[in-house]
Amino acid sequence: MPIDATQPYDDQNIFAKILRGEIPSTKIFEDEWAYAFPDINPQAELHILVIPKGAYVSWDDFSAKAPPEEIAGFIRAVGHVARLHGLVEPGYRLLSNIGPHSGQEVPHLHVHLFGGQPLGPMIARR
Ligand code: AMP
Repeated sequence: MPIDATQPYDDQNIFAKILRGEIPSTKIFEDEWAYAFPDINPQAELHILVIPKGAYVSWDDFSAKAPPEEIAGFIRAVGHVARLHGLVEPGYRLLSNIGPHSGQEVPHLHVHLFGGQPLGPMIARR
């Protein structure tokens, strides 16, 4: 079910549980600001989720409320994960769903990183 991205943060969401180690995940990268792990239902050859360690419902919540060092740390981590996988030269795609029109399902900010193949059109044709 798509979520309402204006709702308050729910610390029982699945990514909060992954951050606390209550649900297993395969760590791809971790630093002070971010954690990255494979998407359980990959939509491309390479499909990684990068999440901030802080409690933010969505990109909207994060961009409005996170302190500058946390925003910088998270964005740098996303770039780092892509570089770790050699994705810069072939190219890759970042996507973050925010609210009902996007179909966001997990109410903890996550950036999808897709790569490893030509990715086709940016969104489904109308
Ligand atoms: P979104 O629709 O942008 O909220 O994306 C949520 C993503 O989380 C989907 O691509 C799911 O496949 C992924 N997902 C849900 N549960 C897990 C999990 N336990 N481990 C890894 N990925 C997950």
